[in-house]
Amino acid sequence: RAKEAGRNGFEFFSAEMNTSSLGQLLLENQLRGAADRGELLLHYQPKECAISGRLLGLEALLRWQHPELGLVAPGRFIPLAEEIGLIGTIGEWVLGEACRQQRAWLDAGLDIVPVAVNLSAQQLAQQNIVSQISNAINDAGLAPEVIELELTETMLMRDIDRNIHTLIRLRDMGVRLSIDDFGTGYSSLNYLRQFPVNALKIDRSFVSDISAEGNEGKIASAIIGMAHSLGLEAIAEGVETEAQRSFLVAQGCHQLQGYLIGRPVPAGELAPRLRPRPGHR
Ligand code: C2E
Ligand code: MG
Ligand code: MG
Ligand code: MG
Repeated sequence: RAKEAGRNGFEFFSAEMNTSSLGQLLLENQLRGAADRGELLLHYQPKECAISGRLLGLEALLRWQHPELGLVAPGRFIPLAEEIGLIGTIGEWVLGEACRQQRAWLDAGLDIVPVAVNLSAQQLAQQNIVSQISNAINDAGLAPEVIELELTETMLMRDIDRNIHTLIRLRDMGVRLSIDDFGTGYSSLNYLRQFPVNALKIDRSFVSDISAEGNEGKIASAIIGMAHSLGLEAIAEGVETEAQRSFLVAQGCHQLQGYLIGRPVPAGELAPRLRPRPGHR
């Protein structure tokens, strides 16, 4: 009955008012001003060399410091931002902020590593996405190589020819590219070969399968093998246990990321992992 009321436009006046849709509406309105009020922030999660443990990169993960709800995870508001057409603005802020952070670390005399930014499908489809990214990099006075973009397999497969073209322009600019949540989509090897990416990130679900009976990491090994034969780096996400780590190392996985290695933290907490830049004074 609530649904019928909704269709008639009475939903907000109904005694059966769905609190979650009201909550959603409130969140939506608050999200519109969140960037301007300075409520968005990035946490950074390390990726390290599977063999040496050396820090090889960071992933920027968006958070919303909500005045009442506290720190809100992206899973809760990014789909909403996509739905209401706000992801372009938010995504542009994320790119700018990641670049400004790299600049700040450089100015502090630190030896930076590439920072990866997650893009959503709508951002990749934007007419000006390539210039938007190059502007963010230039404004911060960075080399393009210190920025990496993570694109999910599913979004790449949505408009393949157009995406290959965009990725080639980004690759030519010099930014690094990786395919996120790899193994959950349906990319054929033939398309995979045409995407000019540097790395495949093995989806967390296949990493947690490693210790599961009956599965024993078969998909993770297959993806690592695929990365090797395509000349790409294999990165495991969501590594939580020593057993997973040693399995991945034995399979030849290049980079590890996950709570075992380090949780996503504010920039300030990461500085100790960044070395002073040689020759900086
Ligand atoms: P993702 O890019 O696949 O990021 C990995 C997610 O797994 C992150 O969740 C991270 O905190 C979490 N994680 C990392 N290691 C572990 C682990 O060992 N165990 C477990 N259980 N989880 C782990 P988070 O930060 O909540 O982000 C979720 C998703 O939101 C991201 O998935 C990404 O798709 C999206 N996202 C985050 N930031 C942005 C952004 O700036 N823009 C866009 N478009 N999407 C973003
Ligand atoms: Mg990611
Ligand atoms: Mg991922
Ligand atoms: Mg994931």
